[in-house]
Amino acid sequence: MSLKSPLSLVSFPRELHLNILTYLRATDLSSLQQTSRCFNNRDLIAEVIVHCAHVVYPSDLTVGFDTPIVSGEVTSVAVAVKKGTKKTNGEQTVTSASTVITIAQKVYTYEMLRNMEMLVVARVLSRPEPPVHERTSCFYVSKSWCRAALRWLEVQEEERKEQEERRRAANEAKSAIFATLKGGKGGRGKSNGSSGKKKLSRKEQKQRDRRMSDSMPPWSNINDDLVCEHGSLKQCSSKSARARRRVMDKQAWKVLKKLYPDSVQLEGSAVCLMCAADAETAKKAECDKKEEEKADRKKPLSCPLVRGFYTRGSKGYPLNCVVPAGLDATLCCPLMPGVYCALPRSWCFRWRKYIKTGEGGFPPPPDGSEVLCEAHDLPLIPPHLESFLMGETSLLFAVHSATRVENIIASIPVGAGAATSSNSRSNSDAATFQALRAAGLSESELHVQRVAMARLEEDMRRAHIHHIHQPREDSESMAPQQQDRTLANEQLDRENRIVLEILTDDEITALEGYWPRCHFGTYALRFAIVEDSSSCCGMEVQWGTAPCRECDPSSRSMTKVVVRNRLQKRGYTAGLR
Ligand SMILES: [Zn+2]
Ligand SMILES: [Zn+2]
Ligand SMILES: [Zn+2]
Ligand SMILES: [Zn+2]
Ligand SMILES: [Zn+2]
Repeated sequence: MSLKSPLSLVSFPRELHLNILTYLRATDLSSLQQTSRCFNNRDLIAEVIVHCAHVVYPSDLTVGFDTPIVSGEVTSVAVAVKKGTKKTNGEQTVTSASTVITIAQKVYTYEMLRNMEMLVVARVLSRPEPPVHERTSCFYVSKSWCRAALRWLEVQEEERKEQEERRRAANEAKSAIFATLKGGKGGRGKSNGSSGKKKLSRKEQKQRDRRMSDSMPPWSNINDDLVCEHGSLKQCSSKSARARRRVMDKQAWKVLKKLYPDSVQLEGSAVCLMCAADAETAKKAECDKKEEEKADRKKPLSCPLVRGFYTRGSKGYPLNCVVPAGLDATLCCPLMPGVYCALPRSWCFRWRKYIKTGEGGFPPPPDGSEVLCEAHDLPLIPPHLESFLMGETSLLFAVHSATRVENIIASIPVGAGAATSSNSRSNSDAATFQALRAAGLSESELHVQRVAMARLEEDMRRAHIHHIHQPREDSESMAPQQQDRTLANEQLDRENRIVLEILTDDEITALEGYWPRCHFGTYALRFAIVEDSSSCCGMEVQWGTAPCRECDPSSRSMTKVVVRNRLQKRGYTAGLR
């Protein structure tokens, strides 16, 4: 600190001096003390300190500042008059050649004031937060600043103690030497000293050094990390608010503010209005963006063809193309004549999910190459699709074979290696129809038989599912309907290598429009339903590519099991076996 014209300042009356000086902190006062004799006045210093201890800071925060515990014990008897920064002793009789001090009068120094300041900060920081209902009139203080300040105080304390220890040891050594010189027993004096204690081990020394370097004095603006760019209380979540700031009563805050005058005062609980407005704007912008994205995503639904495909998820085929339920018993192909396309259900599911929630991102173009067999690169028509097109099942996603209860239960832990033992339709049916053929039934008779069997099976399947889902309800919290569906889907996956949905040619064309540059992935499984008077119902399915009849279109992970003899159970003749 430099004063341009100390003389004019010096000429001020004492009262004014006192007034001005008490606005300063110990370090500044100490500097000032060295600039002029006027300020290096024991009485003035004492007055300043007393004023600070009772007026500037509340007495309850400063009490004890002049005790050895706080300001340290200095065994030196010498009282330096000129060097105010030097430590002097308190309480006891101080005898000195140069100064005469009355007995029991404490010698106040700015070092003591500095200790007082630290004491005050330590006390203020260790106060509990005021109760919640009083907090509207309170002030925010950064918790990280508090931590830094307490750490710093601790290190200061440590340093002071070490300094004292060193001084004491030095004095002891001095007096020992003195004693030796006097002819006494030198060795005794040495062993007497408790100087062994002051020696730090290498480890302790290291720890100490690290602690010292860790502890920087706390920064000058207490609330630096709580303030927003507008200089007000930064907005944050209540959780992070609890972690980052605490409240203090007015008195405590005033004390800190005096010692750290650069600090921004954060009163009450009002957060920055500008920040709040900014946040609101950002939120709205984000909301708008989301809405826009959603609108973009849902745009395809404006096309009625695409919308139709989107909404019929659980059915899997165009309902408007279904032949009206005729009275003609021989009418078995459910779809009207036309061109259709089959897509993997997994792709349809992904696309619908994306349209609905945006999840998974924009899907790749529709692709049916998954249906091609590896050996011949020919389409494998999954049993569920074939059954549906042949009118054997009224639902596209019908599971075909009635599965034994134990089998489904055994497959519940859906481990990858879990043996799923169920009856393969192709196996059992093949066996059955071979037997029927052998019995001399014509192909059209076989077909009618097949339809009848399928109906029976479906009834049984429903009954079974109703049965089995009960024990599962205990362990899983799924809705019964959902459980039935989950079971059915598991079964569907077991019975089919791949599950497909049916789209009309118009629908797939409309859908493809959203992948303008790639016209379908690599393969489209197209088929036509044409009128054909030679078939049983006057309709025939024509595949765009001849399907592979060699590879197994049922599930890849299929494990062959013993075929249950359902025919016997249903009363077919034993001769068919
Ligand atoms: Zn702000
Ligand atoms: Zn039920
Ligand atoms: Zn037919
Ligand atoms: Zn038919
Ligand atoms: Zn094949």
